[in-house]
Amino acid sequence: MSQQPLTPAFASTVLGYPRIGAARELKRALEAHWAGRSSEEELHVAAHAVQSADLRRLTDLGLDPSNGALPGDVAYYDQVLETTAALTAVPERFAGAIPGPVDTAAAFLLARGDAEHPALELTKYFDTNYHYLVPEISPSTTFVANPDRLVQVLLAHQAQGHALRPTLVGPLSYLLLAKAAADAPEGFDPVDRLDDVVAAYAELLTQLGAAGAQWVQLDEHALSTERGAALAADGHTVARVYSVLARAAEAGAESAGRPRLFVPTGYGSAGDPARPGHVQGELARAGVAAVHADLVRGVAPRAQYLGDLVGATLVGGIVNSRNVWRNDLRASLDALISLQAQVTSAGGALAVGTATSLQHVPHTVSAEQNLPAHLPQWLAFADEKVTEVATLARGVAEGAQAIEQELGQSDAAREARAGFAGTRIQAVRDRLAALGAADLQRSDAASRSTAQAAALGLPPLPTTTIGSFPQTGQVRTARADARAGRISEAEYHQFLRQEIARVVELQEQLGLDVLVHGEPERNDMVQYFAEHFDGYAPTEFGWVQSYGSRATRPAILWGDVTRPEAFTVPWISYAASLTNKPLKGMLTGPVTILAWSFVRDDEPLEVSAQQVALALRDEIEDLQDAGIRIIQVDEPALRELLPLRATDQADYLRWSVDSFRLAVGGAETATQIHTHLCYSEFGEVLTAIDALDADVTSIEAARSRMEVTADLASFGFSRGIGPGVYDIHSPRVPSQAEVAELVDIALTDLSPHQLWINPDCGLKTRGYAETEAALRHLVQAAQLARTAL
Ligand code: GLN
Ligand code: ZN
Repeated sequence: MSQQPLTPAFASTVLGYPRIGAARELKRALEAHWAGRSSEEELHVAAHAVQSADLRRLTDLGLDPSNGALPGDVAYYDQVLETTAALTAVPERFAGAIPGPVDTAAAFLLARGDAEHPALELTKYFDTNYHYLVPEISPSTTFVANPDRLVQVLLAHQAQGHALRPTLVGPLSYLLLAKAAADAPEGFDPVDRLDDVVAAYAELLTQLGAAGAQWVQLDEHALSTERGAALAADGHTVARVYSVLARAAEAGAESAGRPRLFVPTGYGSAGDPARPGHVQGELARAGVAAVHADLVRGVAPRAQYLGDLVGATLVGGIVNSRNVWRNDLRASLDALISLQAQVTSAGGALAVGTATSLQHVPHTVSAEQNLPAHLPQWLAFADEKVTEVATLARGVAEGAQAIEQELGQSDAAREARAGFAGTRIQAVRDRLAALGAADLQRSDAASRSTAQAAALGLPPLPTTTIGSFPQTGQVRTARADARAGRISEAEYHQFLRQEIARVVELQEQLGLDVLVHGEPERNDMVQYFAEHFDGYAPTEFGWVQSYGSRATRPAILWGDVTRPEAFTVPWISYAASLTNKPLKGMLTGPVTILAWSFVRDDEPLEVSAQQVALALRDEIEDLQDAGIRIIQVDEPALRELLPLRATDQADYLRWSVDSFRLAVGGAETATQIHTHLCYSEFGEVLTAIDALDADVTSIEAARSRMEVTADLASFGFSRGIGPGVYDIHSPRVPSQAEVAELVDIALTDLSPHQLWINPDCGLKTRGYAETEAALRHLVQAAQLARTAL
């Protein structure tokens, strides 16, 4: 495919921008619409206002509004769902409810489900905390191009002078991110439908071109995963798909301007990591006008492939869009200038961009008024990152002297950060340096089991919960009142003690064997810990979309971690003082604390994990000193951080398991360590979970009806295990017979001496009525099973 020399592509761009609005306006508009408080038209008006404001801001920050530099990811709920809608790829099981094109209401049905139609599955988008809706593809899925919504949005913004770049997931990634529908035959792979889906994309591109789109963005991030790389490795699939699409884009040109394709490949190096740039080269040769390389997680294209970029633009994704740190502009400019020399001598052009969409970071640092004084100048959220991109593009075009002032500011911020007292705390470093293998090793499992049985005196099939009890409106109001100063700290603490006493008494009445304090003092299982560690700062407005209308507010880990004082002990030991039953102390593990935070970029994650582990180790020692004999360290995110590439996984699993072992390594033989994971599809991490060496592991299992217990048995998992018998993700109360049935299934695979009876997860999101009834059934079922042993 020949590239005629045209007006050059944009000099700077970002792959996407947060969609939820600086004040989470889109969240409110969506929830009002779903609750029936606003019409669909009102929702569109609200969403358009958010998008217009964002596009204006992007223009003000330096992106060119006229040549396709403005990203056009305008999804209300999810960008993968948006692509499903544009392809009309409606799963068979929705066919009755969605007979025609996927309009807004139909898209929400796919996203949220109803009584007859369970929603599309939500799953993690690459290794981020964003969750997308998984397309369900079968041999009979029909793909029909439906660009209506994209065209409407495009025209509405064009009318305001914003030539945005419609954005979809590209065909390869769309099928790689999909799963086979439940009714698809054994061995069917969504990628088998590549030719059919490409035909629908070709039609979409033609129509978008006819509607006046100058550029269309097709995200091919899945080429950075193991499976995507394997698909790209054959050396012709990428070329075949994209020469069809580039031709289709040109066909749109007959009635309007010629739309050009921009195909970003973020979240790592696309294709074979030993041949960086080969995928970009193939795309460019196929006729893609702008390709992209993730220069943060991936590596720069190798010189031998740059020749393929003749006539094309390479967008150097050098600004990190996954973290909140200010870019090292001087180092970035150097890297870009040497890349530019190579790219231009090969006949291509270099533009500057982000590594991925900015959807993973909050809007702006300038909204934060209560960060510690040293921190704001180290940070860059989405807006600040757009400025960095524009600045670097200016530096590339005009030379370093043109941005000397910005380079100086960047240098100064880096120096201030490196020299700041909390960045490196010698005592923390010394303590880490002094650690040895013995610090990660508890006594052997058999002696622990004997000592714990003697110390705890629990019945077989002991019953317990995962930690939190319902967070009622009262609990949330008290927390908000305390934060706003409407009640004093003493009053708030008094309230929390009452709440704990109530929860302990309820558990006594229910007859549970191992009690918890209920976690009423915790807003969130990570944020609460971040607030009590030094080296961590929570934000006020740092919302990031998690899925749909849901956003989280990760805290920022900026320095070496210390724990100024014991913070869980007062609540947990108060609870323990109210009962003669064993009371289980509750902590969040190091990997989960890091996975749900913004982490440092100036230290390996492994080092931060060790520091958090030491802080937890001190807390565990204090809990033991306070007489607590059972301590649970939750690690629901252990599997989440698993790297995308197999070659990186072993090292991650080593340090993540070690950080858990470091946290609990000081526990006495008679102290029982529990852990909790929110899933049961262990796959490649089962060995790692075993290596955590926890005395008891509770997991989710009710929905899959204990499928996991057979796997655990064949693996030879020998320590305590609590597969959940109560699905807490639904308000439904399981009957005693249902719970008893699940207990029986578990007992066919596992020994009664290792089995624990507990819910799937914490009860925080449930109401009291259903929780009490379900726990009553759970305790009765356990008692019944005991008599049959
Ligand atoms: N202990 C936590 C709770 O019960 C665990 C939550 C989780 O696993 N996500 O809420
Ligand atoms: Zn859980």
